[in-house]
Amino acid sequence: MSNSFKSSLVDTFHRPIDYVRIAVTSQCNLRCAYCMSEEHEERADKVPILSTQEMITLIEVLASVGVSKIRFTGGEPLLRMDIVELVCRAKQAGINMVTLTTNGLLLDRFLPGLIHAGLDAINFSIDSLDSERYYSITRRDYYSRVRDNLDKLLNADIIPVKLNVVLMRDINSDEIREFVDLTRLYPVTVRFMELQPFDDNQIWRTGKFLGADRIQDLLKHSYPELQTITGHATQYYSYIMPDHKGTIAIIPAFTRNFCSQCNKIRITSDGKIISCLYKKEGLTLLPLLQGNASHEMIADLLRKAVSQKPEDGKHGSRDSVRTSMSEIGG
Ligand code: SAM
Ligand code: SF4
Repeated sequence: MSNSFKSSLVDTFHRPIDYVRIAVTSQCNLRCAYCMSEEHEERADKVPILSTQEMITLIEVLASVGVSKIRFTGGEPLLRMDIVELVCRAKQAGINMVTLTTNGLLLDRFLPGLIHAGLDAINFSIDSLDSERYYSITRRDYYSRVRDNLDKLLNADIIPVKLNVVLMRDINSDEIREFVDLTRLYPVTVRFMELQPFDDNQIWRTGKFLGADRIQDLLKHSYPELQTITGHATQYYSYIMPDHKGTIAIIPAFTRNFCSQCNKIRITSDGKIISCLYKKEGLTLLPLLQGNASHEMIADLLRKAVSQKPEDGKHGSRDSVRTSMSEIGG
């Protein structure tokens, strides 16, 4: 592909945009109470999703405008039968970091293919290590398969793994020790994340939110010997236990404002470019991807979306509150 129009994406506030999260589907095989309503699928069914070829074109254009990291997410990305091909094509297009966020239920089916395709890292979401509690959070009885897939993934030690754990008061906040224990033997990063207000059921409004400072207190109470380490920008708090192989992070997804360092945009499964998590409206790529638009025209729309990125979406004016992270990919 020609690189004649290669120029990086930079927004109005001089932030380079080199990271794109693509929700490859909005459908899911779980129903996490803080994310989706039971009726989600009926809504999702009505929304068109980008075809394999449309995704590949998009990925190639993203590579050509200097995007260096793509995260495939959803909904549940492993529900797409072409997920291995998408990873492969992203690597072939020159994307440096290609990662995936998954609930892990179908990982046994896809892991060998994903590794072969060049996947660089996996975020594995699991909010409880207790089967009954897992069921009450996800509303699906799949704990044993998910746990088996997690154990196999950690034991294989073939790809960097981060665990996403949304920590909620009186739901799973007493499981910190069980999760930290995984870092003893495995070089995994356990990430305790704040609940965000993007949930169909509005668990958010029921007092289950635990802020990063409170999570930190709970963690330090359980492990006074915890050592602070310097983490990545979004992992505001990062720790290691002496003699453990893995690390622990707290993600203040809601309370901390990352806007000044934001380097990403999102693409929905129906092809809308969302320039900010707090903006509901996006520019739609679908007509361009379905028509005969040139790569340059698609790149121009990406630039336009980036130019509309707000300086501070959380505190600025919002279109409206989003109902589920699955719409845009968490
Ligand atoms: N289905 C995949 C999974 O669960 O990993 C990918 C999509 S899911 C939307 C991505 C991440 O967003 C998961 O780690 C999930 O726990 C998180 N998430 C979803 N809704 C959330 C909410 N209301 N607050 C915080 N995190 C949320
Ligand atoms: Fe599905 Fe992920 Fe949402 Fe859970 S968090 S319902 S696994 S999209």
